[in-house]
Amino acid sequence: MRFETKAIHAGLEIENPSKSIIPPISPSTIYEIDAEGRDDSDLHYTRLGNPNRNQFEHLIATLEGGEVAAAFSSGIAAGMAVLQSLKPGDHIIVPEDIYAGNRKMIHKIMSRWGLKSSFIDMTDLQNIEDHINENTQLIWIETPSNPLMRITDITAVTRLAKKHGIRTVADNTWPTPVNQLPLELGVDLVLHSTSKYFGGHSDILGGALIAKKKDEWFEQIRLIQRMGGAVPSAQDCWMLSRSTRTLAYRMKGHNEHAEKVAQFLNDHPKVSKVIYPWLPSHPGHEIAKKQMKGFGGMVSFLVDTDQKEAIAIVGRSKLIKRATSLGGVESTWEHRQSSEGEGSVTPINLIRVSIGLEHPNDIIEDIDHALGK
Ligand SMILES: *Cc1c(COP(=O)(O)O)cnc(C)c1O
Repeated sequence: MRFETKAIHAGLEIENPSKSIIPPISPSTIYEIDAEGRDDSDLHYTRLGNPNRNQFEHLIATLEGGEVAAAFSSGIAAGMAVLQSLKPGDHIIVPEDIYAGNRKMIHKIMSRWGLKSSFIDMTDLQNIEDHINENTQLIWIETPSNPLMRITDITAVTRLAKKHGIRTVADNTWPTPVNQLPLELGVDLVLHSTSKYFGGHSDILGGALIAKKKDEWFEQIRLIQRMGGAVPSAQDCWMLSRSTRTLAYRMKGHNEHAEKVAQFLNDHPKVSKVIYPWLPSHPGHEIAKKQMKGFGGMVSFLVDTDQKEAIAIVGRSKLIKRATSLGGVESTWEHRQSSEGEGSVTPINLIRVSIGLEHPNDIIEDIDHALGK
C-alpha cells in the first residue's frame, strides 16, 4: 500500500475488540489481570503501554518504514531517551546548528551526566570523520537543519558511521516521512517532535522514536520510555493518530505553498537571501533533490536590514502570527535569534517562517506588506 493509504488505515485494528472504525480513547490507567495470572505481553499499567499509544506507535513506525516505535510526551523527551541510552563517557557528534532545545539539553544536562559531544558542520564529510574518536557512539543528523536549512547527505553519513561501527539517529521532524525517509537511507533511528507536523494543528505536545530494527538498542529505549516515564497520555495519542490520517495531504499543501513563498521572497528587493533547499541557489539543493520528495513548509530568509528592522518586520504582519514552533495549519514566523537566545549561531537578520495552509497569495500579501517599501 502507498503512504496516503497507510496513513489512513494503519493502527486502527490494534487492541480494538469493539471493531469500531475509530478506536475509542482508553483513559483507564489499569487493566484487569487474568485469573490465571499475568502474561508479560498483556496490558497492565498505562505508563508501560495502552491501546492508544500502541495504535499510534504502530502508525508512525509504519509510515517511517521502521519495525517499532516508542512515543514520548515531547520531542525533547524522545531526544533525551536517545542520549540516556548511551553511557557516561560516550561521545556524540551533533550538528552545530542542531535544534536549539536539544543543544541546551546536551550542554546543561547530558554533559553533567558525563556525555561528551562535538558540535560540528555536518555538511563536510571529512569534518565528521575528523571528529570521530574511540568513544564515539552516535552521529546525530538533522537535515534540513534548523533554521539554517543545511543539508546533510544522509546516505554518505550513514555509510561513514557504519564503517566505524557508530549508530545514527535522524531528527526527521521538519521533513516528515512524506518528504524524507531516513531509515531507507541507512539511518538506525528516527526522531520526531510530533508537536509539529504530525499534530499539525498546534494543539498537541509529543515525540517519538522509530527504529529500523527491534534490536537491543531499541529495547533500551523502550525501557527508558517506560521507566523514565515521559509518556504521552491516551488522549494525546488518540489525537495524534487522528491528525496523522491527513499528514500526506497537509504536507503536500505545506510544500507547495512554501515553494511559492520562497520564489516570492527570492524576487523581493528587501530580501538578501532565501534559505530553502528547493531553490537551485541553495548549496544543498542537489543532495536535497536526491534524498527528499518535497522540501517542507519551513523557509528562512535574511533581510537587508539591521536586527531592529528585522524584528520590526516580523511585528508588522497581520495574518502571520508571531510565534515559535512550526507545523501548524496557520502560518507563524519569528525573529529566530531572539527566540534561541544564548549560544545561538543564527544571523541577526534571519526570519524563520512556518508556511501554513492558508491561501498562498494571502501569505505572500501579508509578507509583502510587512517587508514594506
Ligand atoms: C520542536 C523540535 C524538537 C523538540 O520537540 P518538542 O516537542 O518541542 O519537545 C526537536 N527537534 C526539532 C527539529 C524541533 O523542531
